[in-house]
Amino acid sequence: MVSKAKKGRLGAIVNPSQNNLQLLEEARRRLKERYGILNNWALVGEEFGIPGGTAHAVAHGREPKKPETRKALGLPELGQAPICPICNVVHTKSCRKSRYKYKDLFSTPVEVLLFQLQNRRSYN
Ligand SMILES: [Zn+2]
Repeated sequence: MVSKAKKGRLGAIVNPSQNNLQLLEEARRRLKERYGILNNWALVGEEFGIPGGTAHAVAHGREPKKPETRKALGLPELGQAPICPICNVVHTKSCRKSRYKYKDLFSTPVEVLLFQLQNRRSYN
């Protein structure tokens, strides 16, 4: 068993000037570094206070979503996603509506044209 103090020491190296991606890469680097020494994801997870499977998944590219996991890895909690200006809903992937191809400029709705002009998108 790893003490709570040790978990905190390993998990809470946070520099607020770094962005989320840099922090995530740093967390991955630390997880892989510990795996290189321990050679066991369950033990690596135990050190950071997260499940071994999660430690493995984060080290191999998954971004943790649970606030407690993010905290344990020294990542900021996820903020609110912005509402898509095209379809007016929140989505994580690229907008499906923006991929819709209008036949020509005259069949494209005015609001779509306006958005494309304002956001410097080509019309096709
Ligand atoms: Zn959208």
